[in-house]
Amino acid sequence: MRNRPVILYLIATAAVFAACLLSCRHIDNSEYTEAGVSKLLATYRQATISDVHYSLSFSIEEGRESPITGIVVIEFNLSSKREPLVIDFRVPDDHLKTLTVNGKPCEAILTGGHIIIDGSLLSGSFNRIEIVFRAGDLSLNRNDDYLYPLFVPDRASTTFPCFDQPDLKAIFSLTLELPPGYRAMSNSPVTTTDTTDDGRTILRFAETKPISTYLFAFAAGKFELIKKEINGVTMEMLHRETRPEYIENNIDEIFRLHYNSLRWLEEYTQIPYPFDKFGFVLIPPFQYSGMEHPGSIYYRASSLLLDPSPTLNEQLSRASLIAHETSHIWFGDLVTMKWFDDVWLKEVFAGYMADKIVTPSFPGINHNLRFLLSRYPAAYEVDRTRGTNPIIQELGNMKDAGSLYGAIIYNKAPIVMRQLERLAGEDNLRKGLQIYLKEYSWSNARWDDLVAIIEKVTRKPLEEWSRMWVREAGMPVITPLIAGDNGYRISFREDDPAGTLRHWPQTLSTMVITADDTLTGELTPANRRSYITSSELPRCIIPDTSGTAYGTFIFDTATAVCLTKHINDFHDSLLRGILWINMYENMINGTVTPADFCTTAFKTLETEDDLQLRNYLAGRFSSVYWNYLPDSARRITAPDAEAMIWHKISSAETPSEKRQWFSFFRNIVITGNGLEQLKNIWQSAELPGDVKLSEDEQCTLALTMEIKGYPGAEKIIAAQRERITSGDRLQHFDFVVPSVSPDSAVRDAFFNSLRDPARREHEPWVLEALGYLHHPLVADRSEKYILPSLEMLEEIKSTGDIFFPGSWITTTLAGHHSPEAKATVEKFLDDHPDYPPDLKLKILQAADHLIRQQASGNRQL
Ligand SMILES: [Zn+2]
Repeated sequence: MRNRPVILYLIATAAVFAACLLSCRHIDNSEYTEAGVSKLLATYRQATISDVHYSLSFSIEEGRESPITGIVVIEFNLSSKREPLVIDFRVPDDHLKTLTVNGKPCEAILTGGHIIIDGSLLSGSFNRIEIVFRAGDLSLNRNDDYLYPLFVPDRASTTFPCFDQPDLKAIFSLTLELPPGYRAMSNSPVTTTDTTDDGRTILRFAETKPISTYLFAFAAGKFELIKKEINGVTMEMLHRETRPEYIENNIDEIFRLHYNSLRWLEEYTQIPYPFDKFGFVLIPPFQYSGMEHPGSIYYRASSLLLDPSPTLNEQLSRASLIAHETSHIWFGDLVTMKWFDDVWLKEVFAGYMADKIVTPSFPGINHNLRFLLSRYPAAYEVDRTRGTNPIIQELGNMKDAGSLYGAIIYNKAPIVMRQLERLAGEDNLRKGLQIYLKEYSWSNARWDDLVAIIEKVTRKPLEEWSRMWVREAGMPVITPLIAGDNGYRISFREDDPAGTLRHWPQTLSTMVITADDTLTGELTPANRRSYITSSELPRCIIPDTSGTAYGTFIFDTATAVCLTKHINDFHDSLLRGILWINMYENMINGTVTPADFCTTAFKTLETEDDLQLRNYLAGRFSSVYWNYLPDSARRITAPDAEAMIWHKISSAETPSEKRQWFSFFRNIVITGNGLEQLKNIWQSAELPGDVKLSEDEQCTLALTMEIKGYPGAEKIIAAQRERITSGDRLQHFDFVVPSVSPDSAVRDAFFNSLRDPARREHEPWVLEALGYLHHPLVADRSEKYILPSLEMLEEIKSTGDIFFPGSWITTTLAGHHSPEAKATVEKFLDDHPDYPPDLKLKILQAADHLIRQQASGNRQL
């Protein structure tokens, strides 16, 4: 055991718990063997099982249906036989074929997703269990000529028998038998390749380093392989791209970005790349942007293979994504969270490192503004709702781990991490992280382990800060108070939307503008002794100008009026970003009207030259235009908005700017004239100024024209189908097309087909189709799908990937605003009082706009 004096109390607590597990006579059997992996089972196994080694062989057939057979030999040491051994294997009963325990054949039975082996068959030290099985298909992502198993967070056991918890790291030895023409990539290098008499390939991979089950991966199929070496670092990439120019245009940059990230992380962590090889796989319909399997990172192909003339944003997103996944090699793969309640920790550090890695490569970008715009709006989107959650969430069973992911861990946690960086100091934080990575290499750690290290390095107590910002849900509502007895005294009230008296420790860099003066000060909300004194009545109170404060900052009336008129007078783009984010939150809270928001945003879009801000505003304008403006106001706004954006498309200087303005135009068009312009662009497949539309952009355009009711759109769809040049893209297009159909029987059949989990396998396609199905323009015809979509949610959680249940319900509800839609959601929750709490929160997050708008009486569609 390592010597960790500062966290002795934690070790002591864990030791008492483990000792109790081992000595108490009766473990609660129902919890020990309940479906999934309960915390009790995980804790017991971690305390009694060690040195795990899996030798795994899979025989893979072509196509989606033919069974994949497998053999696993699990070797491990066991220190207690008091409880039966539980191996996780969540497949249909007939998938378990034979079971041999320490050389003795045993009856192979599955009980609730487990193989339970009596202690009498086991040795009190080394054990060897051999299992022949058919692999479960749920997490294999099988396609006609490729597959890519994806096991995060607890899905390894849906394919092969294992101890499916992050803190039983194991060494894997993998053998794959593949159809002719298949290639494969896994966590470790291939050691031998043989060919059978019938032309099948047998690949044996080297033993992995110790990794968690969720990080074990192999992608196999008809892929092309590209290898590159940069300064002695060899990297390999598998892909299925059929357009040579997409490879040529992007390949050097993709390898260079990986190389840069690797070198940067080695320098920052002072730990050389810890795994045996580096590779990545580009998968066209991948569920996420990326997944960090060591030696074999998966990416969604389109996230790396950018269209010609990519926007700055696309280039920056790609660089950030590569830096994020590469950072996980150290933060997540080398040191892994003990239990998935701390999954945010690996995510926050991957994001934190990615920001540091990409910043120097994009010197022309305001990175503080980028951080602000990418994190705050997304975090507020969830944290302002009744469905919000703390950064660290309770997790009783691994089967619920997928629900932990969301905007709070991806967007609020980085904001909180910046607070920690300021509290600790950048150098101290780095020093603490180096100690943490070294101390817990190839092992597991908790957030509290890291806090203890940083407290020791900085000699600052962090407990209260950690409690409020990491362990509590929600955010404060902060309102200015103007007291006027002797001059004016400006301070801030802090309210807890949950109705309790919580106080979030933070300091605001406040600016008060009067007719003649600008006053500034560092203020603490809810502290009456913390104020700015002004001799004149304030015209505008900006609660925080630093961009680091977090909460709902309500404007007073004068400030709301002033900012809708003068927001563009502020020269600092970061400050304009802060004000715009606050303006949107004020619109949500009713202190700024949607019409004022749209008018001010429209004026700004005409003149704003900061690209990041313009993109943000275009998104917000679209969202308010579709979701908050009444039909009549939208019809009045549309002609001017379309004309202004069309002018921008024509006059923009670079192809990427033209494409950005065009995607905004396509989104908001509703007039006959605008639709004709869309049709002409689709026909020529290019924008004014000879900018070619990519095939994906043409497909989106054709689908948009149908949803917007352009006469003859069906012919455009049919013609677009003929233009598509790749099989993968054609399948994608054919999948989505029924969702835009004007024929309700076609849409019904499409929606009903989604009841089959196999039809939901390509989750990005499903979400795209749901976006069309529930577009605000056609919300009344899709209201009938809300209830069945809610009813499907539990099943979707059990079969879909981690982000999917939340995205499913968010995309379903986003375009709806009617009282009927609200009533459907509320009745569903009333009718299911024992509904799983994690899913209930996801529904409350997704339905916030319904609940809020009607509560404040400003629903207008
Ligand atoms: Zn990540």
